[in-house]
Amino acid sequence: MAKLNPYRPFTPNPDMVARCPDITGNEINGVGEIEPRRPVPVFWAPNPENIAFGEVQKWFYMCQPDSPDMVAERAKRQAVLDSILPDVNPVTVEQSANAWTSSLDRFVGSGDCEMVGATAMKPEWLFEGQKTEFERVIMLGVNHDYDELKYAPEFRAGVEVVRQYGRAAAVAKKITAWLLEQGWNAEAVTGPMAGKLVMIPPALECGFGELGKHGSLINPEFGSSFRLSAVLTNAPFADTPKREFGIDEFCSKCRICEDACPPIAIEPDKKVVRGVERWYVDFDKCIPYFTENSGCAICIVECPWSLPGVGINLAQKLAKRSARNKTD
Ligand code: SF4
Ligand code: SF4
Repeated sequence: MAKLNPYRPFTPNPDMVARCPDITGNEINGVGEIEPRRPVPVFWAPNPENIAFGEVQKWFYMCQPDSPDMVAERAKRQAVLDSILPDVNPVTVEQSANAWTSSLDRFVGSGDCEMVGATAMKPEWLFEGQKTEFERVIMLGVNHDYDELKYAPEFRAGVEVVRQYGRAAAVAKKITAWLLEQGWNAEAVTGPMAGKLVMIPPALECGFGELGKHGSLINPEFGSSFRLSAVLTNAPFADTPKREFGIDEFCSKCRICEDACPPIAIEPDKKVVRGVERWYVDFDKCIPYFTENSGCAICIVECPWSLPGVGINLAQKLAKRSARNKTD
C-alpha cells in the first residue's frame, strides 16, 4: 500500500490562480497534438513578459523567503553569466571528431561537471522563433548533493538546485571559452531560463539516460538528481551514443513519484505531446505547488533511481534480466 502523502490535499493559492492566463500550460505544451511542432516556452522565460505564465513565474520569486544562502548562490550564478568570454581565436584548431568529444572528459575529471556528451542539433529542439547557426550541441550534467536535495520541498532543496544551476552555467561558460580559444565560435545555453532550446531531448540523444514518468531524465548513476546546461558550436564533435537501460519499462510498473506528488500531477500513462508519445507531468497541476514550494523536486528525490548507490544496482539488475530474456 502506498504511504500516506503528508502534503495532500493541496489547494492552490488563490493569488497564484488569479495570475494564471486563460490558456492552459498543457495547451501551450501541445498535449494531445498529434502533429510535431516546435516547443513554446511555458515557464522559465528569460523575460517573463514574453510568456503567458509570466505573472506566475514572477510569483514564484515572491513566494521565496529572504535567505542569505539563496541570495549568495544567485549572485554567484549571475557573476558566471556576466563573465566576459574571449574573442574567437583566428587560428582554428583541427582534430578528429572523436578527439573533440574525448577532450570533453577533462571537464568531468576536473570536477566541473559529472556528465558530458555531444550530438547533432535538431531544429525541433529550438523554441519557436529561435534560430541558430550551430550544428552541434554539447550537453553537460551536474549532480545535486542528494543530502541537500533530500529536504525537498523545503527551501533548502531549492538553494541546492540554484547552486547546481550555477555549476552548470559555469561549466558551459568554461567550455564556450575553451572553444573560442580553439578558434571555434560557441554559445553557452544555461538554465533554468534557457530560452533557446529544450534540454532533455538532446541529453537523451547524448546517452544521459531515459525520460522518467516524473518528466525528468533518469541516469543510472545520478538518478534524476542532476541539472543540465549546453554549449552550441560547429566544432565537429563526434556523437555520444544514445543509451537505454530499461528505465522506461521500469517506470511503467512503478508509481512512487505519482504517489509522492502532492497535487497528483504525474500522469500514470504516456500522452501524445506534439506528435511524440511520452511520459508527461500535468503542467497546470504541478505549477501551483512548484511555485509555492521552492521548485518542489519531491518527485526527483523520491524516485528510487535518485537514491545514492541505488540506480547503478537497479541498472545492473535490469541488464541481467534483459540478457536472460534474450537467451530464454
Ligand atoms: S519514481 Fe518510479 S515511476 Fe517515477 S520516475 Fe522514478 S522509477 Fe519512474
Ligand atoms: S515537481 Fe511537480 S510533478 Fe514533481 S512532485 Fe512536485 S508538484 Fe509533483
